[in-house]
Amino acid sequence: MKIAIVGIGVAGGYLLSRLKKEHEVVGFERSSQEAHDSICAWGTTKGPMQKFAEKCELDFNYYVTHDGKNMYIDMNSERFNIKLMGLCTYDKIQLIKDMAKGCKIHYNTTPKIEDLNSEFDLIVDATGFYRSYLPKPERDFYLPTYQYKIEYEDHVPFDDFYLKPFSSISGYFWYFPLGKKYAHIGAGDKNKKHVEETNAFLKKHGGKIIKTVGRPIRLATPDMCEPFYHGKVVGVGESIGTVYPLLGEGIIPSMTCADIFIENLGKNERYREQVLRKFSIYSKVLAFVRNKMDSKFDMLKHFADLLAIYMYMKKNEKRFGMEIHIGDMLKVARA
Ligand SMILES: Cc1cc2nc3c(=O)[nH]c(=O)nc-3n(C[C@H](O)[C@H](O)[C@H](O)COP(=O)(O)OP(=O)(O)OC[C@H]3O[C@@H](n4cnc5c(N)ncnc54)[C@H](O)[C@@H]3O)c2cc1C
Repeated sequence: MKIAIVGIGVAGGYLLSRLKKEHEVVGFERSSQEAHDSICAWGTTKGPMQKFAEKCELDFNYYVTHDGKNMYIDMNSERFNIKLMGLCTYDKIQLIKDMAKGCKIHYNTTPKIEDLNSEFDLIVDATGFYRSYLPKPERDFYLPTYQYKIEYEDHVPFDDFYLKPFSSISGYFWYFPLGKKYAHIGAGDKNKKHVEETNAFLKKHGGKIIKTVGRPIRLATPDMCEPFYHGKVVGVGESIGTVYPLLGEGIIPSMTCADIFIENLGKNERYREQVLRKFSIYSKVLAFVRNKMDSKFDMLKHFADLLAIYMYMKKNEKRFGMEIHIGDMLKVARA
């Protein structure tokens, strides 16, 4: 098939690599080649990423910039640590570029749907939040985010991952180390305190701003993001809501979604069903997050859902790259 992959983020780059041997794939990216970047904190889990990288004949370890041991959680009234088991940061844009190596990519381009329709058998909307080639999601939900890449001179504020959830879990501030001297600091917040919180951290801990970015992150889950396909266009990744809503974590879910797409190439309805099944727990997780945000969470009424989320994360500790304890979940639920 002749396949257009629009949006060379984590899903688009991975798809180029996986499909290039058997199909004629062409990538389109709206950024210029020089400015091509990934607006993201670059945190992920080593085990699953190594498996994705191997499928592209790459070694994920080569891209790791910080291998986490501990995550400091600061909930004002309560501070605790989460033991990490694989959570890391990595050079996300370099891996995307290496996955896409050898493929034809048109940079600085947002192609017109008519042109794509006349030239390609299949068009993948991998444009992430922008979802430029599919109708608007049935029910969208997203948070604004803001982030700096910081360079530190002699000392870093934290030696490992640091998270500060905001009251009612309206969002959180993150500090993700990127090697010895660099870190991503940023925040996403429904109450729009994300810029203020990020600047407050910068003021307190110093450091030189290397880069400033921001974009909304989609927390609407796949069941809210239909249609997944329309005409020749099929959505893959954040364009159809593959972000784990409790953490705002979309790298592994978007690559998982790309794998489902590849397994069901040309069988759109089966792809739709499998995506909905794979990510079905995400709706429960989003319901928890929204209840917390709107101060509607009731421990008695919602305990069964909280337990289901805990059990899912406990079962997938290695996938999330951290030890999951019911006590920590309860701390978040009570925040
Ligand atoms: C500030 C921030 C921090 C985050 N931190 C993390 C994290 O640490 N870990 C994690 O797992 N997830 C994180 N996420 C979420 C994660 O980045 C995304 O969910 C994930 O990258 C989605 O992958 P994608 O390929 O679907 O879309 P994206 O990675 O967003 O890629 C979409 C690509 O499409 C391009 N594009 C957009 N519109 C068009 C168009 N019309 N034509 C052509 N090209 C277009 C964009 O330039 C981009 O290159 C974060 C998100 C944000 C906003």
